[in-house]
Amino acid sequence: MAKLYFRYGTVGSAKTLNLLAVAHNYRQQGKCVLLLKPELDVRFGRESIKSRAGLEMAADVLVSPTTKLLEMDWEGVSCILVDEAQFLSAFHIESLRKITLTKDIPVICYGLRTDFRTRLFEGSLRLMELADSIEEVKATCHYCNRKSVANLKHVGGIAALDGPAVQLGAEEKYFPVCFKCYDKQVDEASKLHEQMAEV
Ligand SMILES: [Zn+2]
Repeated sequence: MAKLYFRYGTVGSAKTLNLLAVAHNYRQQGKCVLLLKPELDVRFGRESIKSRAGLEMAADVLVSPTTKLLEMDWEGVSCILVDEAQFLSAFHIESLRKITLTKDIPVICYGLRTDFRTRLFEGSLRLMELADSIEEVKATCHYCNRKSVANLKHVGGIAALDGPAVQLGAEEKYFPVCFKCYDKQVDEASKLHEQMAEV
């Protein structure tokens, strides 16, 4: 039986680089591998999957809320790779789970576990529930040498505490952080906001 994999990590954990390496290996062996990504992710142009290290491949399928994955033709496909899987809906994750069972095609999903408020994304939550294999792609904290576990959002150089979970293409910056540094940054930002409110 083909498996559903969830490989999660913080920003900057080279998830996409890992995905592109897997795609490259399959293609070198002459096998058909399909690259999927949510249509929502418009950072690097709609049709490409690009790692921060600069490597890039075209996405074969852009998944929108109306995409019916179960009705697509998966004949001859050896593996399905999904980038930014946290942005997929629970329904799409369930469809991918079904494809591993009925079509016997392995599906490897890469994505963030949580948003900048440390809450699970919809796609990540369903993957945590349904994946056969859950693996962490590790990265180091932006501020210290501990392992990063959270995504800190900065707006204008100050840690952001609220706002929508998804704001792709906006001018915020995201940093991989450990919980200790996350806590410190958020505390400092809270104090700053209090001071600004008093002035
Ligand atoms: Zn740290």
